[in-house]
Amino acid sequence: MKIRIWGARGSIPTPSTTDFVTSRYGGNTTCVSVEIPGRMVILDGGSGLRNLGLALVERGVPVKADFFFSHVHWDHIQGFPFFVPSFMKGNEFTLHGAVHERETGVVGSVLENALRGQQRSLNFPIQLADMGAKLVFEEVGAGATVKLAGISSHLTIRTVELNHPGGCFGFRIEEHGTAGESGSFVFATDTEHFAEVNPKLQDLARDGDVLLYDAQYTEDEYDGKKGMLRKGWGHSTWRHGLREAAKAKCKRLLLTHHDPMHDDWTIARIESDARREGAKIGVAVAAAYEGLEFEL
Ligand SMILES: [Zn+2]
Ligand SMILES: [Zn+2]
Repeated sequence: MKIRIWGARGSIPTPSTTDFVTSRYGGNTTCVSVEIPGRMVILDGGSGLRNLGLALVERGVPVKADFFFSHVHWDHIQGFPFFVPSFMKGNEFTLHGAVHERETGVVGSVLENALRGQQRSLNFPIQLADMGAKLVFEEVGAGATVKLAGISSHLTIRTVELNHPGGCFGFRIEEHGTAGESGSFVFATDTEHFAEVNPKLQDLARDGDVLLYDAQYTEDEYDGKKGMLRKGWGHSTWRHGLREAAKAKCKRLLLTHHDPMHDDWTIARIESDARREGAKIGVAVAAAYEGLEFEL
């Protein structure tokens, strides 16, 4: 499967300026594509989704894809109104998201409520129902596994509930071919660590090839030694990412959900610290950036 990062920023898009450069790692919020011949999966619809949409339009063929939304915080859905393929008749998208009542008074598909709400006429000129493409909502719960067939292999997408205000799914995507499993990718952003490793994440990431993990804060930021105390905000640090990856025997750790207060220089420093510590325990570390593409 081919994986591409379209957005690795957390919380809010962070454009590069002369004083605050973010062009190396990118300023768009979370979006990742996973593709095998005959099937595309899109993880989250942050502002990075806009560029993925433009790339799909370039291909000039009808687009069919399955979205999986970790949760509906704004930075994970805000790209959807700017996803050009969803305005084009003949395209078809299945939108997988949480079922259960995560907010008082919201019953039914949390995802559908959030996407419709985001495009109410007060917020956006074109409503979800008028977008042109066929949009099908599929509810998915924690612990579920969805199987999607490609041409010569299939993907399985397994969900677990992570530790984040309002709830958030982590996903494990595996490709299974006729010659056996060829790769596993674990998507775990918007999750706060516990004192010990998170058993649910351990289960999800066990022996995985790549763990994409929420490393929004440095240890000092999280502990409030630098700025506000961030405990309870639902995000984690690269040190905890390393601990999760090492314990789960995951070979590679990719840091993501970069804090909007972190410019390229800060992220590069975090990356080099994490890489050095990772090398001591046999985990290869890198910071995710927009445009990063790899095959598993
Ligand atoms: Zn987020
Ligand atoms: Zn969130």
